[in-house]
Amino acid sequence: MASNFKAIIIGGGPTGLLTALMIQSAGIDFILLEQDDEIIVEDGYNLILNPENIRIFHQLGLFKKVRQDACALTTKTTYTRAGFLHESNLFHYINDAHGMHAYCFQSEILLEILNRALRPSEDKILVSKTIADIKCSSDDVSVMCMDGSIYTGSIVIGIDGSRGKTRRIMREMALRDNDVDRKIWEAEGQFPAHFKYMSMNLTRCSHRGTVSETHSKNLSLMYVSEYDKATIHICEKLDKPSFEHVEFTRDDESKILTKFKEFIVADASMIMDIAIRITTSSMSLLEEGVAKKWSYKRIVLVGDACHKVSPFGGLNFNMGIQDAVALVNSLRKATDESDTDEPTAEAIAAAFKEYYNSRASSVARDCKISGALLRVSAWMNWFAWFMSVYVFTSWFWEVLVLKHILPRRGKSGLVLKHVSAGEKLYGSVPWDNKMTE
Ligand SMILES: Cc1cc2nc3c(=O)[nH]c(=O)nc-3n(C[C@H](O)[C@H](O)[C@H](O)COP(=O)(O)OP(=O)(O)OC[C@H]3O[C@@H](n4cnc5c(N)ncnc54)[C@H](O)[C@@H]3O)c2cc1C
Repeated sequence: MASNFKAIIIGGGPTGLLTALMIQSAGIDFILLEQDDEIIVEDGYNLILNPENIRIFHQLGLFKKVRQDACALTTKTTYTRAGFLHESNLFHYINDAHGMHAYCFQSEILLEILNRALRPSEDKILVSKTIADIKCSSDDVSVMCMDGSIYTGSIVIGIDGSRGKTRRIMREMALRDNDVDRKIWEAEGQFPAHFKYMSMNLTRCSHRGTVSETHSKNLSLMYVSEYDKATIHICEKLDKPSFEHVEFTRDDESKILTKFKEFIVADASMIMDIAIRITTSSMSLLEEGVAKKWSYKRIVLVGDACHKVSPFGGLNFNMGIQDAVALVNSLRKATDESDTDEPTAEAIAAAFKEYYNSRASSVARDCKISGALLRVSAWMNWFAWFMSVYVFTSWFWEVLVLKHILPRRGKSGLVLKHVSAGEKLYGSVPWDNKMTE
């Protein structure tokens, strides 16, 4: 096995820490560089964890933590501004199909759990490290930080989110080289935004484990609650797509919130009744897209850094976890097969290619699902309105699509090949990828 192989992970968000944990379990050396001063963000949002990824938590020895600290999602209700529209059995179908509900984690609790699980590698998690530049040579890669420090390793894994620097540096590096397809790399800039997006954290104002949506023309709301807290996502359609980075002010937040004041959230409260419960909020343009290039030379991207989808569908974090599983499987194979201290540059390129190939079609599908759910909920045109009001509420949709077709999405979930753990989740739909016993 390649003993000198070392990964530099950029970004200590939920996916970054989980990737570090998977890499630790694969026996690969790493360091993680996070720009913030702390790993645990105080007032975080809710993250949905689907059963296929609860299996990964099981493989990492964290199954009990999911049961104890995350909350099962059980209720899904849809409203329009006029009132109740539909109650779906979606979460019960998920439970029947996979033997477990989808769960919801408060991000700060999840970060705490992951941080604790990484304690054996405490000295490898470095905070206050904002990356400034990356340099690749034929033998290694170096990451320069704003504070002047430099870290050298075999590969860089960019998990620094949709606005992260790694993707930008990778693109500039490729464009400086002459032997690349410039057209493809030039298009690898920012993802377009079709919606304004605001997320708000609040104390729970409904039954726990509730998801609700309120559909309306050009405006859409989703509410997700766990034990103590809830997150509200609101989206407003832009007149035209934007590629700009816009900084929104508190005044912008108040203005958008006013448009939603009579929107119903779970258990039929209105936004104006529960506004007092909001503790933190943030507003941005909602970028959506999938990068065509996920790697270059010794740099590879994971999670929001290479695909950003709408929060409707709760897939962002789930997609990032599956990326990390695929990448760690390929890296582990490359290090196992290497008969020198480190896999060669060619072996690394092959591992990155294998990673991309194993994820590209699922990511494209999930991106389409998340985008469509948002567009239907925001009644983008008459067809979307018809889907929202008549099709999503129909018996046909519930039974055919949610009960029988949707579970096919989760059943193909990847697992870590190097971890032996008995299966924990048994439902009516067998998993395509079996756990190593
Ligand atoms: C407000 C909000 C609410 C959300 N709600 C949900 C939800 O309900 N459900 C869901 O599934 N997903 C949700 N998401 C998306 C979800 O957070 C991400 O999909 C998930 O966190 C995994 O993303 P990530 O780790 O790839 O990136 P992020 O979570 O964005 O993490 C990136 C990390 O990289 C660090 N970083 C960035 N730049 C640098 C740099 N130059 N140097 C060093 N470090 C850097 C950042 O500080 C951060 O810690 C939400 C996101 C936001 C912002």
